[in-house]
Amino acid sequence: MGKTIIAGVTQRQDLGRAAGIAAASAITAAAEAQSLEKPAVDYRAQPRGGQRCAGCAFFRTQSNLSRLGHCSMVIGDVAADAWCAIWAPAA
Ligand code: SF4
Repeated sequence: MGKTIIAGVTQRQDLGRAAGIAAASAITAAAEAQSLEKPAVDYRAQPRGGQRCAGCAFFRTQSNLSRLGHCSMVIGDVAADAWCAIWAPAA
């Protein structure tokens, strides 16, 4: 158990978060270097929880009226209401 710094937050938790962010960044960098097949990222036609392609940082719309778009990571069209395992919140 790490030392409590702020109520409910420990040094160990902070290190874990930092490691997680570093790992996610490494995965993101690797994925950006190549286009990923939908099965490789567990692409699904439905949103998962509150996560959907339209709210993902990698989603690129074809037009404001289109429910299909492109993804900077995944090969092929993706649906605005779809989801995959590398979903990341849009800024
Ligand atoms: S959730 Fe997956 S498929 Fe959808 S835009 Fe993000 S990275 Fe692409």
